[in-house]
Amino acid sequence: MSSGLGQSSIIKSANTFSPSYVPNSLPHREKALSDLKHVFGALYDDHYSPGPIVLIQGRWGVGKTAVSLRFSGDFVSETREGEKNTFGVHYVNCRKCRSPVIVIHEILSRFYPGLPQRGVSFQELFLALEKALSSSEERAFIVLDELNYLKDCGDLVYNLFRIHEGSEVIPPPIILIIRDWLPQYLVESNVRGFISLRLPLEPYNKHQLFDILKSRAELALNDDSCDEKVLELIAELATKEGNARYAIRLLHQAAFVAEGHDREEILPEDVRTAEAQGRPSLNKESIGLLPLHERLLLLGISRALNKSNSVWIPIGTAEREYQLACEEYGIAPNKHTAVWRKVNESLAQDGLIETRKSGKGFRGQTTLISITSLPTQALERMLGDLLNDSLG
Ligand code: ADP
Ligand code: MG
Repeated sequence: MSSGLGQSSIIKSANTFSPSYVPNSLPHREKALSDLKHVFGALYDDHYSPGPIVLIQGRWGVGKTAVSLRFSGDFVSETREGEKNTFGVHYVNCRKCRSPVIVIHEILSRFYPGLPQRGVSFQELFLALEKALSSSEERAFIVLDELNYLKDCGDLVYNLFRIHEGSEVIPPPIILIIRDWLPQYLVESNVRGFISLRLPLEPYNKHQLFDILKSRAELALNDDSCDEKVLELIAELATKEGNARYAIRLLHQAAFVAEGHDREEILPEDVRTAEAQGRPSLNKESIGLLPLHERLLLLGISRALNKSNSVWIPIGTAEREYQLACEEYGIAPNKHTAVWRKVNESLAQDGLIETRKSGKGFRGQTTLISITSLPTQALERMLGDLLNDSLG
């Protein structure tokens, strides 16, 4: 229904589409939330008991951040004593920090707002954290999100897990959030032993995405502005990824498209238009914006895919093709870890490639790479041309 002059005809609450919005209820994550509640059980009864360490794992958009923020927020209100919080959430997104020093600084700055950042070493900051944790009235509930982005954070994690040893600190509750691939330092038994619960979140299926979309549409859109058929279409389009972020973004975009046509209802066509707008296209400008090694890597991946004729190739095969491409253009190739980061971060995040872990049929565990949204032969030609233009 139209909500009057100057207001959106479809979207009634734009903030419920914002990435930082955390809904009160998270359909199909009830089990994850109750598992968390269970492992935090002792802390509900005795606020000063040692906190558990939980590892939440999963691909993009499966609700890792939403689950951790919903749980920690509810936990803080449920453990409140009168007007005062017993716990305070220290949430740090490591994508924005990029170094262990900055992460500790972020955790500390809730205790000491305005704490200067420069010139303080990791050890000094860690001691300050130890002091703050043992003297503060409010207990810290630490959430470290997107840990994969952090280089060299084995020491940080190890020290944090053992912060109570030889000190007065009661172990704080900690949630670590990580993509589906476990970094080596978390595999090692001296660190793994501290983890009370490992909570893998699987991608959503179509029916689950439909329920998530339905509950978000109720919060965000005017009544009768979005038929269930439209939600089903969006769920269908988002199923390949199982990604709630993508599904919700598509709903938002489709609402914009419909409003752009002065309609009060989203039609399936609006969804298709929104989807086509969001799809990465084989466009020379956007590929041309990629840094040199990303371009060479994408060339290696396209070549490997074109040669193998399979949908997924192991990262090792792509890396070899990348090294050959570097040789061809006279450029020193990046080392394996840098290649791994570029694959998992830049290229996968830009939606140019997709990655998953190998299952049966591969020796050991490896990352598999695919390009499904672009024609790889045309991509190989375009990258070759671009590299010849800039380096040839
Ligand atoms: P991740 O951290 O795993 O990448 P997020 O927690 O950021 O994913 O979720 C992506 C988007 O999808 C957010 O807008 C979040 O609110 C929403 N979302 C994810 N899971 C659910 C769910 N079960 N119910 C409602 N919304 C969800
Ligand atoms: Mg997240």
